[in-house]
Amino acid sequence: MSSHIDPLSFSRRSLLGGLAATTALIVLHPFAARATASQAHLRLMETTDIHVNIMPYDYYVDKPNDTMGLARTASLIDGIRSEAGNSMLIDNGDLLQGSPMGDYMAYKKGITAGDLHPVMKAMNVLGYDCGTLGNHEFNYGLDFMFNTLAGANFPIVCANLTKGELAADPKQDQLYFKPYVIVEKMIRNGAGAESPLKIGFIGFVPPQIMLWDAKNLEGRAQTRDIVEAARAWVPAMKEEGADIVVALSHSGIDGHGQTDRMENASLYLAGVEGIDAIFTGHQHLVFPGPKSFDDVPGADPVKGTLLGKPAVMAGFWGSHMGLIDLLLDKDGNSWKIVDFTCEARPISHRDENRKIVADVGDTLEVVEAVKPEHEATLSYVRTPVGNTSAPLYSYFALVADDPSVQIVSNAQTWYVKDMLKETEFKDFPILSAAAPFKAGGRGGADYYTDVPVGSIAIKNVADLYLYPNTVQAVLITGEQVKNWLEMSAGMFNQITIGTKDANLLNTSFPSYNYDVIDGVTYQIDLSQPPKYDKDGKVINPEVSRIRDLSFEGQPIDPGKKFIVATNNYRAGGGGKFPEIGADKVVFVAPDTNRDVIVRYIVEQKTINPTADGNWSFAHVEGATALFDTGPKGRPYAGQVKGAHIEDAGDGADGFARFRLIL
Ligand code: MN
Ligand code: MG
Repeated sequence: MSSHIDPLSFSRRSLLGGLAATTALIVLHPFAARATASQAHLRLMETTDIHVNIMPYDYYVDKPNDTMGLARTASLIDGIRSEAGNSMLIDNGDLLQGSPMGDYMAYKKGITAGDLHPVMKAMNVLGYDCGTLGNHEFNYGLDFMFNTLAGANFPIVCANLTKGELAADPKQDQLYFKPYVIVEKMIRNGAGAESPLKIGFIGFVPPQIMLWDAKNLEGRAQTRDIVEAARAWVPAMKEEGADIVVALSHSGIDGHGQTDRMENASLYLAGVEGIDAIFTGHQHLVFPGPKSFDDVPGADPVKGTLLGKPAVMAGFWGSHMGLIDLLLDKDGNSWKIVDFTCEARPISHRDENRKIVADVGDTLEVVEAVKPEHEATLSYVRTPVGNTSAPLYSYFALVADDPSVQIVSNAQTWYVKDMLKETEFKDFPILSAAAPFKAGGRGGADYYTDVPVGSIAIKNVADLYLYPNTVQAVLITGEQVKNWLEMSAGMFNQITIGTKDANLLNTSFPSYNYDVIDGVTYQIDLSQPPKYDKDGKVINPEVSRIRDLSFEGQPIDPGKKFIVATNNYRAGGGGKFPEIGADKVVFVAPDTNRDVIVRYIVEQKTINPTADGNWSFAHVEGATALFDTGPKGRPYAGQVKGAHIEDAGDGADGFARFRLIL
């Protein structure tokens, strides 16, 4: 499934590709060679959206992972510094939440004044010059954030986070952090002589933190529009003598027009006079690079510019180091930019067999610095955080309502309800769509979710939700809900009256597109052909496989509006579901579905994921069909609700075969 962002698909092979960084040949950046006596080469390095991923380790699956970890990104630093005459290192935020190590620090260990968070330990080792805040810094409350950031041995700037209400004049805002810093750095020119450069860094957080973290921020903070804050403070930086101004924008790139308090404002930020270069982030994408920003007017995804100014976005979880190289020319007493290049340099690549290959090893000082917290996190993910009073398995997810899908929808509904409770969408009914991810198929006879009754650990949650998708919600009509389900029903072959032992499942239809929608009840009539083909094109306009679709016990009103909680893949048009796409999205969550499930389990303590049986197959006279599932599902066959199944012996390739009596 391509729902999650694959950092590697965007990556450009680095010069070091395939070599360990320590043995790589250093190739000087052309600016370093080209700089004349009046010129200097300055390289700015960015990390962003680290999300407490310091070690190259995926704690959810409890396995090493070569695509992530600041300990790996850090290994690029020395090589990158040696390629340049002068360099600085900055971080663009989203440091404190998003991996089990972050949850461990917040929920289990805690930070009191004077403690050093592992992220700070790692960053302090690496010599950062400046940092800014991401939206996730607020997830555990302001006290946690301040106690953690107090440990940084580098300045942190944010120009649009205020204490209390906004002032009439942005420059009168009472800010929690310095809006900017101006760092005086001695830089070496082309002739080897040093002279001072004043470089200003100004930081921005998405204004939407007031919605996403309302419970932590209401009454204690406010946010200002990013571009508005920049227009107020950048002239002050110039007045104070900044030779160049660099924006640390924890905000992505969105070319759909500038709006007030927009979340992804980096493109329009580039239009602010006086800003010379922009570090972006938040979207977990890579810039420059192919695909993601090809259609954004004003963005050049080859050169790495926004409105002509140098810009980068360095992936996430340490997948890339963002580089902006500036060739500066001394013009009297001040420096100006005469040329630049931009690059996002990856820590890993895929070989010809699509196998992930690490391009760098670990930075041992970083690994050493966080060793105690790494070990504590390992035991944390292996320790129960809650209980399940029903087994969580996916063996029969394609023939009956299923606990492994139910738990995801229960958590999504719980979360979206809370997120929308004070918005204009609060009065719409909330449904939830979720699909079985681990349901055999090409994954094999063991490829199923299977968590027994009893304690549930964080690492089990990866088994419930395989992909690092984020939650989104769409606003659609009852008719569109029905068509969503018609599309899902493409999972099955047509089984006509009297047919015996036909194959139930359409093997070209992936199970992750078999969305079950909770909050409504319905039947699927397999005697009918599918309404849609796999591309969402209507092939049988007059037919309907979905029958008796009801909301609150009444036939659904085709014109009534519903919120449907889902993920960024589906909401963005993934799977080509009819009319489901970005134009229907009314809520883009900052959280992954997986984190939402963890939070749900932690807060509920005991979950009861028993399927509510909200869907079933309609009776087809005299018809039976066969399907295969994992043999470990046999003990649960008697618990399957709403479907009449019987053991039909062994299938191929180690699968067990069952007969569905329609
Ligand atoms: Mn992020
Ligand atoms: Mg259900």
